[in-house]
Amino acid sequence: MSSRVPVIAANWKMNKTIADAEAFLGDFLPRVGEVTSADVVICPPYLALKAVVELCAGSAVSVAAQNMHQEPHGAFTGEVSAPMLREVGADGVVLGHSERRTYFAETDAALAAKLPAALDAGLRPILCVGETEAQRDAEETEDVLRGQVEADLANLRDARLVELVIAYEPVWAIGTGRTATPEQADGAIGFIRSLIASRSEEAAAAIRIVYGGSVTPDNAAELLGRPEIDGALVGGASLHPEGFASIVAAAAAAAAAAAAAADR
Ligand code: PEP
Repeated sequence: MSSRVPVIAANWKMNKTIADAEAFLGDFLPRVGEVTSADVVICPPYLALKAVVELCAGSAVSVAAQNMHQEPHGAFTGEVSAPMLREVGADGVVLGHSERRTYFAETDAALAAKLPAALDAGLRPILCVGETEAQRDAEETEDVLRGQVEADLANLRDARLVELVIAYEPVWAIGTGRTATPEQADGAIGFIRSLIASRSEEAAAAIRIVYGGSVTPDNAAELLGRPEIDGALVGGASLHPEGFASIVAAAAAAAAAAAAAADR
């Protein structure tokens, strides 16, 4: 890990009622109360956002939604806008998750509009990119990542790139129990960083790029110990307070080790 502050985000997907979220946070928050060396983010379903914001108030844990529409308001039945998310106290929003790209026809064109809309409303986006297994097998990983990063960030000025978090999430590793090796994750994230560097060296040095795909308490330390990996977006393992807290602890330990190495 580098000197960048790691981000550990819990993507709860379509899991947890408000009552479930209350029970989770009652257990989880005391476990991570001392952690200041990692940015911890909970991404609950829309209906639990306000309750999670209120429960996390006074803690260092921030809250993000899992999607939003690019327009601030209008005739888009069933959708939620960035200003609406800010109004309930969300700090960020996950954009371009592969489940949204696959099941809900999320396009790069929509993401190119969503990213500036999120930032303009005061939400930090966590942009997900990643290749399918067939694309990796065909050695198309870099082409896919280049296409997604260039298209999704097309409407952002270079000075704003640092405000994002990017999550490298190989589709074949999400919810499958198959984790990218630390070398694969580190390599892909290094490649994404080089794409950012082609626009701004300064942004590339500062932007947090995390790994997602079957991160667990057992594999977190090895992944988070890699120099390019600035944290994790965690699905299944984030549903359990003890396990998710131990992933946060692994990030804090990796950050401390990186700081000690930088001092030597
Ligand atoms: C995710 O939903 O972004 C994710 C990485 O899920 P999981 O950790 O379950 O693979």
